[in-house]
Amino acid sequence: MSFYGGVEAGGTKFVCAVGTGPDDLRAIERFPTTTPDETISRVIQFFRSQPEPVTAIGIGSFGPVDLAPQSPTWGFITSTPKPGWRDTDLRGRIQQALQVPIGFDTDVNAAALGEQRWGAARGLDTFLYLTVGTGIGGGGVVGGHLMHGLIHPEMGHIPVARRPDDLFEGTCPYHGYGCLEGLACGPAVERRWGAPAATLPADHPAWEMEAYYLARGLASLICTLSPQRVILAGGIMHREHLYPMVRKEVQTWLNGYVQSPAILDRIDQYIVPPGLGDRAGVLGAIALAERSARERS
Ligand code: ZN
Repeated sequence: MSFYGGVEAGGTKFVCAVGTGPDDLRAIERFPTTTPDETISRVIQFFRSQPEPVTAIGIGSFGPVDLAPQSPTWGFITSTPKPGWRDTDLRGRIQQALQVPIGFDTDVNAAALGEQRWGAARGLDTFLYLTVGTGIGGGGVVGGHLMHGLIHPEMGHIPVARRPDDLFEGTCPYHGYGCLEGLACGPAVERRWGAPAATLPADHPAWEMEAYYLARGLASLICTLSPQRVILAGGIMHREHLYPMVRKEVQTWLNGYVQSPAILDRIDQYIVPPGLGDRAGVLGAIALAERSARERS
């Protein structure tokens, strides 16, 4: 029997796991993201302490990352603003220590792969996975392939126009209030309203504004990529009352133009939470490992 390792490498915390899928996770460990040396050592220690060796490891990482196998910095975290992590060889250091094949991708592409393998995107070949939390990030599959291209998608930074009555200056260090993340990530909600999103009551005006921005971002992505489904995840989406608000706002904005029953009649099955819940990231990393082992055999 082959066991796979998964690493969900987040800017705030790392999650490591060993197993073969959602019903068979043999070990799981979470720890805070500190310095690269300390954090990568804990990853290596976790896998070395397992009773069974893993056949391959998948890493779904915060970014930006280099995903081009022919590049000298393949598997590096590149231009991140996170202190100490710029130009970190995350893939190489784990590969050198553990000597197993490594599948490496963005955190959101890994989660998308996990959702396709076991979750809300089974049977689909074109779908989006968008996470709304400390930042906003998106990945997914188009025509059966994880989205890479030039670098990888940066869906949080698509331009979104600020609502005329919103005077918030935005949180994006690159775009201020000019992009989706700057207007609608968790820290933007907190700074605009002076309280963390988790503490705002469901009838607070913050949620109507949040739905307004997320729907405009989603409408752009739906019109561009024509996904068969949109998985909406992340800390902000733990507030489940937001789903119906976003769905309605997407319908209102599209205004009947995208002629699909998925949007017109069944939008509650079109914009959905992750089937794997908060385990999508680490299970997606295991799906990456599984794929990497298959490609090498
Ligand atoms: Zn931005």
